[in-house]
Amino acid sequence: MYREIAWKKYEETGTEAIDRFSEDYKHFLDGGKTERECVDEAEELAKKAGFHNLSDWRRKGFKAGDRVYCRWMNKCFVAFILGEKPIENGMNILGAHIDSPRIDIKQNPLFEDSHLAYLDTHYYGGIKKYQWVALPLALHGVVVKKNGKTVSVSIGDNEGDPVLYITDLLPHLAQQQMEKTASKLIDGEALNILIASKPAPKKKKDEVSTAIKKLLKDGYGIEEEDFVSAELEIVPAGKSRDAGLDRSMIAGYGHDDRVCAYPSLRALTDFAGTPAYTVCAVLTDKEEIGSVGATGMGSHYFENILAELLDAAGCYSELTLRRALRNSRMLSSDVSAAYDPAYASVFESKNAAFIGMGVCFNKYTGSRGKSGASDANAEFVAQVRKVMDEANVAYHTSEIGKVDAGGGGTIAYLCAKYGMNVLDCGVPVLSMHAPWEIISKADLYEAYLCYCAFIKNAQAQD
Ligand code: MN
Ligand code: MN
Repeated sequence: MYREIAWKKYEETGTEAIDRFSEDYKHFLDGGKTERECVDEAEELAKKAGFHNLSDWRRKGFKAGDRVYCRWMNKCFVAFILGEKPIENGMNILGAHIDSPRIDIKQNPLFEDSHLAYLDTHYYGGIKKYQWVALPLALHGVVVKKNGKTVSVSIGDNEGDPVLYITDLLPHLAQQQMEKTASKLIDGEALNILIASKPAPKKKKDEVSTAIKKLLKDGYGIEEEDFVSAELEIVPAGKSRDAGLDRSMIAGYGHDDRVCAYPSLRALTDFAGTPAYTVCAVLTDKEEIGSVGATGMGSHYFENILAELLDAAGCYSELTLRRALRNSRMLSSDVSAAYDPAYASVFESKNAAFIGMGVCFNKYTGSRGKSGASDANAEFVAQVRKVMDEANVAYHTSEIGKVDAGGGGTIAYLCAKYGMNVLDCGVPVLSMHAPWEIISKADLYEAYLCYCAFIKNAQAQD
C-alpha cells in the first residue's frame, strides 16, 4: 500500500505555511512546559480568537457560532464553537493531553549531604531515568501558601536564569555501574536535584540548606513547609529548536502530547464562520499516569463541563447530555512511535508510523492481543478516510510496534465509554518520552489540516 511522503505535497506551493505554523508551535511549547502553563497559553490563544469563559457566557438559547471555553482546575482546557445543529446531535471533538513525562519534587524534598543541597523527587510517567541525568534542568510549577496565595515558579528557562542538575557518575569510576541493566542504571531515589552549594555565614551545620531556605524565603516568600502544598516539576531547560540541517524537524520537550494538543486547539481558534455540528477541543491532564484523578480523562469533568454548557445554552436535561455524548465523533490524538531504523526490530514496517509521512491513524492501540484498546469502528474509520482524502491531508496508519513487542494506551477508551465514535490519531515522534523528542514539521502541519478537516466535515452516521 503506497503512501507518499508528506513533503511532496509542497513541492509546487513551497513550505511557508508549514514553517509559520511550526514557529507558532515552538512558541507554545516554550511557553507551556507544564500542563498548567499550557492551560494559560491555551486560554490566551482562545481569548484572542474571540472565545469567552463559559462562566461569563450565559444566555437563554444559544447562538450558533458562539465560542466558549472552560478551564478545569488550571490543568485542563476545553473549548467549543457552537454549531448550527443542536448539541444533542453530537459534536466533532478533538482530544489530546498536555501533561508530559517529567520529574516531580516530593512534598518534603529538601536535604543536605556533604555541603550540597538537594531536592528529592518522584518521577512522573514512563521515563528512562538514565536520560535525565547530566543535563540542564528547569523548575516550573506552583507553591500554594496556607493563605491560598499561589506563587508561580519558573527557574531555568529565562535568559540569565541558573539551571538545575542531576549528577551522574564519571566513566572512570563507573565500571560496576555500567554492568547494570538500563532500567537499574539510575535508581529512582537517586534522581536528586542539585540546587545549592554555598554555605550560610557563621553556620557550622546544615549551612547550605540554611542558605537555600533563606534564598527561597527572600526570593519567593516560600517557607520549607510550603513544599507540602506545592506542585513543582523538573523539566529539561531550554527552548525547542529546529532539528536537521534542512530544519525539517523540531527537537523539543513535551511533543508528547503538545504536538497534538496545539494543532487541535488551533483548528478551533482558526475556524472561520459557524460549523454544522458543535466542535470541541479538550486538552486534558494525567494521561501519562493513566488518566486518573480529577483532571484525568477518567474523571467526569468533561461531561460536567458539557452539562454546564447545555445549561448555559438553556437546553440541559440528562437525556440531552447523554445524546450529545453518544452522538459525538472524536479524534483522540496522541503521539505515535515513529519507525526508527536504528531500532528496526521492534517495528513492523508495513504498519508503523513514519516521520514525514503526515498524521497517523491508529484504529486500535493496546498491547498483547489489543488488550486495553479502543478499537474504532470500520464505519467511522471509513468516514474519516473520506474526509481526509477530500481535504488532501497526508496521512498513514500504524500500530505501536510489532505484535507482542510492547504497547500503550491513550484517552480514547475513556471517551468511547459514552458510546461515541473515537479514533486514535497523532503525530509520529522519535525518542518518545526522552527529555528532547523529535517530530517532523510536515507531520505537525498535516495534523493541523487533519483536525481542521475533521471538525468541519465529520458528521453523524446511522
Ligand atoms: Mn501521550
Ligand atoms: Mn506518553
